[in-house]
Amino acid sequence: MTSASSQPRKTILVITDAEGVAGVCRQDQTDPKDGEMRQLLTGEANAAVEGFLAGGADEVIVWDAHDGSQSLSALTIHPKAKLLIGDLGATMGCERGYAGVAFVGQHSMANVRMGVMAHSYSSLGIQNILMNGRPVGEIGTRAALAGWYRIPVILLSGDTAATEELKAIVPQAEVVAVKEGLARYACISMSAENARAAIRDGATRAMKKLDQIPPYRIEGPVTFEIEYTTRNSLPIDAGRAPGAEVVDDRTIRYKGKDFLEAWIRGNAGF
Ligand SMILES: [Zn+2]
Repeated sequence: MTSASSQPRKTILVITDAEGVAGVCRQDQTDPKDGEMRQLLTGEANAAVEGFLAGGADEVIVWDAHDGSQSLSALTIHPKAKLLIGDLGATMGCERGYAGVAFVGQHSMANVRMGVMAHSYSSLGIQNILMNGRPVGEIGTRAALAGWYRIPVILLSGDTAATEELKAIVPQAEVVAVKEGLARYACISMSAENARAAIRDGATRAMKKLDQIPPYRIEGPVTFEIEYTTRNSLPIDAGRAPGAEVVDDRTIRYKGKDFLEAWIRGNAGF
């Protein structure tokens, strides 16, 4: 037996979203039934798969994570990829032991200047999420979740604001900016073809330097504060959940002894 055969399988989880895809800039394009968006997203996801496989990944799982898993199809996903459909729950399946996590089509967190359709989990429902007092969105929370399991985030593609958000916490990760935000609903985008080529190359580079990209670890007790929009107000019994504390009519705080405990408590509110 060669030593290569005893190496653990290298599985990459690709988290997809719609708002950070090249050519997607208006809210109506994020409808999961929008045919053009689905093609654009599929092309970018498949380019990432191609790049990861070329860089040495054994398996790539693509999670259709935008709005209820209705945007990707087994008919058009890369033939060598696996498609993950549905909700993964609070731990994102990290117990399975991915070698790395990647974001494709990612947007920046809520309230970011020049962030194309910037929001944190829900543009209608959530005004702001703070983790240990600092604003976070999908990038920061999911990187910390993967990091809890000692899994690094190795690649992100999206608008420039989203790439900067990951670089601020994981400078070693590969990022591909496929469009530059001018405002919430205005951007200068690459063509689909060029975006795909850049993502493919970025994925190969990321895979080759996998061992040099550290997991994003949040140590010690963690607090999540979720401020809902004015459309929402906390239910009457909101403060009864374990570790929960009502801050005001539409803000709740969850505390945990460590990241995972706080995340599982707070995640119920996203
Ligand atoms: Zn999102």
